[in-house]
Amino acid sequence: MMITESNLQAESAIARDVVPAGDYYLKTVKAGQTFRILDLEGNQAADTLFYNANDIAERYSAMDTIREQGNVYLTAGTQLISNFGHTMLTIVADTCGRHDTLGGACASESNTVRYDLEKRCMHACRDSWMLAIAENETLGLNKRDITHNINFFMNVPVTAEGGLTFEDGISAAGKYVELLAAMDVIVLISNCPQLNNPCNGYNPTPVEVLVWDA
Ligand SMILES: [Zn+2]
Repeated sequence: MMITESNLQAESAIARDVVPAGDYYLKTVKAGQTFRILDLEGNQAADTLFYNANDIAERYSAMDTIREQGNVYLTAGTQLISNFGHTMLTIVADTCGRHDTLGGACASESNTVRYDLEKRCMHACRDSWMLAIAENETLGLNKRDITHNINFFMNVPVTAEGGLTFEDGISAAGKYVELLAAMDVIVLISNCPQLNNPCNGYNPTPVEVLVWDA
């Protein structure tokens, strides 16, 4: 895994937001700005969607990103490609090593399939995204816009047989991923509340989002 550190200092950030586990982050990052997702306590999962702020029909596409970079994992150097084939963002620093874009987000439905019927009522990332778009109607997003996502910091290795497994996290307190926006992008993060997945050690914790001007 490749580790690439950033030269940006937290003191020079123009915005800093701590996002508790189970909460969402929804902001527009302008072209040329850089933002960092900081894993404050370690082994957290930040389930993230990106939209072109000027045309929400354009959004992050896992399949286009995987095909264009020829790799299922995301790390420094990865360009995040939209469904229109454009580069939306580039990962410019990464001290975790790799990030998942295959595992998808937790939902009340998947919680019952993966864990237990009684887990249905537990909070899930899909619910956080739905709350975010309901509380920000002016963006024009609806549930059809909730598509495949990136799970920053989440460890979902592909086995030799081609299977997917959720494993113990590879992140730690203070690790981060940093992205440079190539267009104005709406960043929608669900800071995962999941209590049943070993990726976060069964202990969801806050992340911090920092933004720097060009
Ligand atoms: Zn989740």
